Amino acid sequence: MVDADVTDILIIGSGMGGATLAAGLAPTGAKIVILERGERLKDSPDARDPRAIFQRGVFRPHETWLDGAGAPFNPGNYYYVGGNSKLYGAVLIRYRAEDFKPIEHLGGATPGWPFPYQELEPWYGKAEVLYKVRGRSGEDPTEAQRSSNYTFPPVPDEPAIAQVRERMKGAGLHPFTLPLGLDVDAWLKGGATPWDAFPETRGGKMDAETCGLAEALQHPNVSLRAGAHVDRVLTDTGSKRVRGVEYRKDGETRTLTAKIVVLSAGAVNSAALLLRSSNRGLANSSDQVGRHFMNHNASAVLAIDPRTVNDSVYQKTLGLNDFYLTDGKGGPPLGNIQLLGKVSGPILKSNIKLAPEWALSAMSRRAVDWYAMSEDLPQADSRVTVDGRQIRLDWRRSNWDAHLRLVAALKERLRAADYPIVLSRAFDRRTPSHQCGTVRIGLDPKSAPLDPFCRAYDHPNLFVVDASFLPTSAAVNPSLSIAAQALRVADHIAKTDLT
Ligand SMILES: Cc1cc2nc3c(=O)[nH]c(=O)nc-3n(C[C@H](O)[C@H](O)[C@H](O)COP(=O)(O)OP(=O)(O)OC[C@H]3O[C@@H](n4cnc5c(N)ncnc54)[C@H](O)[C@@H]3O)c2cc1C
Repeated sequence: MVDADVTDILIIGSGMGGATLAAGLAPTGAKIVILERGERLKDSPDARDPRAIFQRGVFRPHETWLDGAGAPFNPGNYYYVGGNSKLYGAVLIRYRAEDFKPIEHLGGATPGWPFPYQELEPWYGKAEVLYKVRGRSGEDPTEAQRSSNYTFPPVPDEPAIAQVRERMKGAGLHPFTLPLGLDVDAWLKGGATPWDAFPETRGGKMDAETCGLAEALQHPNVSLRAGAHVDRVLTDTGSKRVRGVEYRKDGETRTLTAKIVVLSAGAVNSAALLLRSSNRGLANSSDQVGRHFMNHNASAVLAIDPRTVNDSVYQKTLGLNDFYLTDGKGGPPLGNIQLLGKVSGPILKSNIKLAPEWALSAMSRRAVDWYAMSEDLPQADSRVTVDGRQIRLDWRRSNWDAHLRLVAALKERLRAADYPIVLSRAFDRRTPSHQCGTVRIGLDPKSAPLDPFCRAYDHPNLFVVDASFLPTSAAVNPSLSIAAQALRVADHIAKTDLT
C-alpha cells in the first residue's frame, strides 16, 4: 500500500454533485482533492456515431449489476470525469415549488422535502449561471417563482419543431421552451447530431466537467485524480468522524486522509460504497442507506405523420407540463413530457433488431419523438444492496398507473394534433439515468441518513452530495436540483466547518 496523503476536503466523484460542490468550495482556499474512478472522455469518431453509441454501446461500462431477481444486466451508468452528465440531455430545469411539499399521487404519497422551494431558489439561480442555462420563463404554467432570469436566450426551435409547437397549441396544450445547458452553435460545429445521450467531447454541452469542474480547477487549491477508484470510506474505532478513504490507482491501493469527506459517486455507487464500508453500512444507524431508490417511469412516444418530414437535427427544445400538477381534469399528477433528442434509424435499430435499418430511418424521418416521464415514489424495499463488489439493484417501480395515464393522455393529444400513427415503448432497468433517493435528506435521523445540508447524522464530517440525497424524484430531470443543493451545501460547509 502506498503511503497515505492528507487533504482538507476529499470529494469522491466528479459528476454533477461532486464537480459543482468543488466549484462552490474552491474560493475558500481549502485544499480539495477529487478522486474520480473514470478518465477524461477523449474525442473520437465514435462520439458522434449513433451506431457506435446505441448499437455497439462503446461508452457503456464493462460492469454488470444484478436486478431484484438476481438476473445480470449492463446498466447505462457512465464512469468518466463528469459522470453521467457527459452523456446527458442537458435539460436543466427546476423542480416545481409543489414538488417540495407532500403530494398525493395515484400510486401513493410523497413525503416532500425538509425545506421549501424558496430555500433552494437562490441556489437554482446560481446553478443556472454556472451551467450557462439557456431558457425563456413565462411559458410554462407550472413554473415556480424566480428571482433571476436566464442569462442567455433559449436554444431555438428548428423549423420542423416550430411547427410541432403550433400543432400542440392547436391540440389545447401549452408547450414551453426547455431550459438547456447547451451552446447549439458550438455543438453543431462538432457534427450535425443531437446531444441527448451523445457524449460531450467537442464543446457545446455544459456538463459537470466543462462547467463545474472547469470552474473548480481554476483554483490552485483544487486537484483532480482521475482513474482513482474508491473502495472504502475509513473510520477510526471509538470516533464518529470518518478518517478518509482507501482507493485504487495505477494498480496500487492507497489511502487519502481528509478533514471532510464528501461522497458524490452517484445514487447507486454512493449507497454501495457506504454499505461496503462497514458491516452494518456506514451512516446507516437508520437502516435507510440504499433504500428508497427511485428512477423515473419513462417511455418514448413516437408521433408519426407520413405526410410530413421531420428534418430536425437535434429536436430537443420543447416540453409540456399540462399534466404535471394534475391529470388535466383535477385528478392526481401524471408527469412531464419533453422532446427526446432526434431519434434516427440507427438509434431505433438498437431496440428493434429485426427491422431493417433503412425502414426504421424512413419511419424516423416522419416521426416526432417525445419522452414521457412520471414520478417514482420512495419505497423502503426499492433498494441497492451489495455482496462484496457486486451491486444488486432491486428497483420496485411505483406509480406505474399514473405513467400509463400520462402516455395515454399524450397519445390522445397527439392524435388530436393530427398524427395518424402514435407508438410508445417504456424504458427499462438498463436505463437508470435518473437514479436517486438512496441516501436521502430528512429531519428525522430515524428515517433519513442525511440532514437537510447532506451531512450524515451519524458522522459529522461526512457528506453525500449527489442524486442520492433527493427525497423525491419529482417528474423533471434531476441535475439542476443536484447542482443547486451542491452549491447550498458548499456555502454551508464554508461557513460552519471551515471557519
Ligand atoms: C443518457 C442520459 C441522459 C440524461 N439527461 C439528463 C438531462 O437532460 N437532464 C438532467 O437533469 N439529467 C439528465 N440525466 C441524469 C444526470 O446525468 C444525472 O442525474 C446526474 O449526472 C447525477 O449526478 P450525480 O452527481 O448524482 O452522479 P454522476 O454525475 O453520475 O457522477 C458520479 C461520479 O462518481 C464517479 N464514481 C462512481 N463510483 C466511484 C468510486 N467508487 N470511486 C471514484 N469515483 C466514482 C463516477 O465515475 C461519476 O463521475 C441523464 C443521464 C443519462 C445517462
